[in-house]
Order: sequence, then structure tokens, then C-alpha cells
Amino acid sequence: MISMQRMPLLVLAPDVAERIAAGEVIERPVSVVKELVENALDAGAHDIRVELRGGGLRLIRVTDDGYGIPENELEHVSQRHTTSKITTVEDLSRLQTLGFRGEALASVTAVAEVELISRAIETEDVGEEQSALQITVRGGEITHRSRRARPHGTTVTVRDLFYNVPARLKFMRGARTENNHVLQLLRRYAVGYPSVRFNLTLDEHVALQTGGSNDLIVTLAELYHLPLHEMLYPVEISDGAHYRIHGLVGNRVLAQNSRQYVTLFINGRWVQSRVLQDALEQGYRGLLPKGKHPLLVLFLDLPADEVDANVHPAKTEVQLVYEEQIVAALSQAVRTVLEHSPALPEATHFPGPVLANQRRLPGPRRRGLHIAESAEGYRAEQAPPGTAEVITSLRPLAQLQQAVILAEAPDGSLYLVDQHRAHERVIYEHLRHTNAGSQSDEVMDAHLLLEPVMIEMKRHQADLLEQRLPMLRGLGLECERFGGRSFLIRSVPTSEGNEQLVAHLNELAEIAAEDSPDWEDHLLIGLACRSAMRRGRELSMGEQVTLLRALANVAAPAVCPHGSPILLYYSRTFLIDKFDW
Ligand code: ADP
Ligand code: MG
Repeated sequence: MISMQRMPLLVLAPDVAERIAAGEVIERPVSVVKELVENALDAGAHDIRVELRGGGLRLIRVTDDGYGIPENELEHVSQRHTTSKITTVEDLSRLQTLGFRGEALASVTAVAEVELISRAIETEDVGEEQSALQITVRGGEITHRSRRARPHGTTVTVRDLFYNVPARLKFMRGARTENNHVLQLLRRYAVGYPSVRFNLTLDEHVALQTGGSNDLIVTLAELYHLPLHEMLYPVEISDGAHYRIHGLVGNRVLAQNSRQYVTLFINGRWVQSRVLQDALEQGYRGLLPKGKHPLLVLFLDLPADEVDANVHPAKTEVQLVYEEQIVAALSQAVRTVLEHSPALPEATHFPGPVLANQRRLPGPRRRGLHIAESAEGYRAEQAPPGTAEVITSLRPLAQLQQAVILAEAPDGSLYLVDQHRAHERVIYEHLRHTNAGSQSDEVMDAHLLLEPVMIEMKRHQADLLEQRLPMLRGLGLECERFGGRSFLIRSVPTSEGNEQLVAHLNELAEIAAEDSPDWEDHLLIGLACRSAMRRGRELSMGEQVTLLRALANVAAPAVCPHGSPILLYYSRTFLIDKFDW
């Protein structure tokens, strides 16, 4: 039996209360690193070095070149609710900093030994400090105080994390797991702040290093050791008042099996909002194979009083005043990129961290080009690949295996176009347009079959199908109930492929009778796929041109309705690189 004996009401002793409060902020080593790195960023640092030993339980050290902490304040920064970032409640709505609670250092000192070394930068208020002050805090007491030489900035060293919270220590995984959390965190900050140099050392091995180039493409290349410039599309949208969205969205080749590379920052703060994540996923639904997620880094700049960052203790959730508009804009941004992004010839496997034996960056070696310069060259050349402008200007050269059109772009890059998928996409968009307009009087032209086709449905399908007959009619599929569970199909949509279609009427009727909210789209895809020209059909030059023109006019020329690539793209820089020109 559970003991129901109640203890008398007591106020918790300060050291117990401290450790409980600390537990909410400091869950594991990565929480310490997060707080210390955010403090460094808030202090305007350009160079942030993070060092870990023993997965962070033995030692975590963060060194920055920020504005430092004045001598007379150093002893007080680790007291709870001590902050230099806000003073009034109103300040919360004009927040420019990552921190504001004044709790992090207090929490860390409650569960570890903390050594602070800081030298403040000279300002009007703070005179020049000759040296840095160093203090050590353990168990709430200052145990050591001394002076040291160092330039302005702060170093915080955290030793013996959770030494006084054995219960928490038990939950720690191995050093590898903790290191990995820290690595992922640092990667996020590195892309979030490309103008800051980051360095992460794990047990004396450099695990991550960025140059602070302030160029996101370069930073990503530094993090992932890939020449990513041709695979990233810049995004820049704004409504001029409530939001600006900018950053990079990776093309289909960079699609990954996890959401880990979907990174979103709101006013410099990394967020993991369910709503925004859904908005992004909505944007790439149907444009990437199931289970794949794009690599993207997007920055959302919003007026400070239209974001509430104060809702979640770890501060990764946010509330937005103009959420609906922002959600729509985010979806659209991702969608636009993926609808136009052709596939690249080499599948790119995204490497995880390259800890030891760092690979050299592949790239245009002979010219000694650094990746940033080749990225510049690339951008200067051309409209982005896959856009209507580029596809319209493609000049067909030949047909390969009676399945693929080879075409040259004006800048000398080569496109391979899958004729079946291209045609399928063109038909699909036409059908979708017609279907959307069917409330008015737009209907597909119908091709009357010489002999109507009779199909048999199951009972539950028959009723659903009957309800949907008007919609089918709008698409050129004239169909009527012929008593019981039988239906007669009298016409199919007019297209070159209508003979092909007849052989698939049974399948299509099954789709039209699907008990799923997506049945309409499935039907359009089914119709498009089954009437599109097959591979194995020879196309004249004229037909190739017509197909490319039609493709240039659709909204998503790069991806077939099933989410597979239509275009394969060998850029000019790719040819230069591979041929060593
Ligand atoms: P908060 O960041 O919410 O203010 P913290 O406990 O993280 O709370 O830090 C308390 C204060 O210590 C900060 O407001 C800041 O004044 C000072 N501080 C902490 N770390 C640094 C740093 N790396 N550089 C300069 N000042 C710092
Ligand atoms: Mg802080």
C-alpha cells in the first residue's frame, strides 16, 4: 500500500530549491553549452571557442571575444535573476538578446564548479581594465580570486557538472552522445551566425570550425565538406511590414532522411515550432519522396513586439502575432524552390561530422578556386537552373534511348529531360487547373469512345463513385451508373494518350472511388500518368521543342506528380570541374 502520510508544509532550503530550479534549465551538458554560447553571442563576440572533455561532465569551456563583464559585476552575474539585458516588463517586447532571464549562470553554479575570467572592453562607462579578473564559484561560495592577462572577452569554465546531483548524473549517456548533442548545437549556431567564427574541440580533437566569412554558403560548405553552392537556392521574401524571410533552401539532391537539417531562426533565435515545421513540410509535400526532408536554413526577421519568446523555458517555442501569413509565406518559399530544382548528376550523401582526417573540399581545383569564388561565378552566370526562363530557352540536341531529351541551355549547361515525366507533369497541371475551374464552366474536352467500357465496382465503392460522377465529367470522363454495381464509361479526356487510357479505366475508377481525402489528387495523378507519352517513343525535334515549351509553363517543372525528378542538370561549372578545363 502507498503510504498516505503527509509531511508538514515547509519552505525548501535554498540549496535544495536552487538545484531544483537549475534542473529546469540545465538538463545535460549541451544545455550549459547553449547558455554559454548565447551569452557570448549576446556580448557581441566574433570568435567563440568551445571545448569539452569527458562529454562535458569533466569540463566545458567557452571563450569569447565579446565586450566582457566589468570587474565590479563579475561576482554578481551568477546570482539568480541578475541580468544586464532587461530591466522592465516592457523590455520583453523589444528583446534584442538571446538571454533575458538572468538564470543561466545561477543554474550552472548550482550544479557545478564555475570559473569566470573576464575583461571588459573599454567604454564611456567602464574605464580601461588593466587585466582580467578571475573567480571560481563552488557550492555558492567564491573559492578563488585572482588576476590574469587577457584581451577583452570572457571565458567560462564549468567543471564537475552535476557533482552534487547524483540522480541527474545517472541519466547521462556516454560521452559520445553528449558530444554529438553539442556538435549539433554548434552547427546550428554556426549557420545561424555565419559572421561568427566557431571552433569546437572535443577531447582535444577539432570537431567543427568555421571562418566567420558571413557567407552562409561558405559556412555550410565548412560544416559539411561539400561544394554546396550549386545545390542551394537563396530565398528572400518580405511583406514589407510584418516579416522578412531569407536564407537558403537546398535542392532535391540534398534531401535527407531526417528533419535534422531543417533549421529555422527567428530574430537570431533557433526555434523548433511545431506550427512552423508543419508549414515547411506542407511546402515540400509531394515534391520530395516520402520520408525525405530538405536541407534548409531560413531566417525569419520579425518586429520584436510581434514575437513572444517567453513561452518555453528552453526557449525553442515561440508565439507569433502574424502566424497565419508567416506560415503561408514559409510554405511557399520552400515549395517554389523544390518545384524548380532539377536533380544533379551525382547523388550527394550528406556526411555527418568529419571528425578526424578531414576531407579536402572537392571543387574546381585546377584554378585554385575557393568554393566561395566559384559560388560567385556561378551566380553571376545565369538565371537559376530550372526556372521557366531557362527551360524556355533550352535547345534540344537529341533524344537518348527514346526516353530522354538532351538539351543545351544558353550558358552551355546540359539538361536531361525525362519525356514521360515531363508530359505527365504538363497533363497533371492542366487537369488540376480544369478541375479547380470546374465550378465555372471550364471542362476538359472529351474523347467519345466508340465502344463504352463497362466496369464493376464493389458495393461501398459504387456509392462513392456515383457521388463523384459530376467531377469526373468535368475531367472528360463521362461515366454513368448502369444498375447495381456496374458503370459505363463513355468518354475519356482528350489527349494523345487516350487509347492508352482505355486499358486503365478499371484502375482509374478504383482511384475515383477511394475512401480517402486525397482521392481527387490521386485521380488527377493517375490520369496524367496513364495518358502521358511513354518512354520508347521517338520524338521529332519539333515535338521535343513543343514538350519543353509546355514544361516551361507549368508551376513545378522539375518534379513529376509522384515526386521524382524530371530534369537532370549538368552545370557549366560541373563540366569545367570534371573535365579540368
Ligand atoms: P541572461 O543571459 O539571461 O542575462 P545569464 O545568467 O546567462 O543571464 O548571464 C547573466 C549576466 O552575465 C548577463 O546578463 C551578462 O551581463 C553577463 N554575462 C554572462 N556571460 C557573459 C559573456 N560571455 N560576456 C559578457 N557578459 C556576460
Ligand atoms: Mg544567458
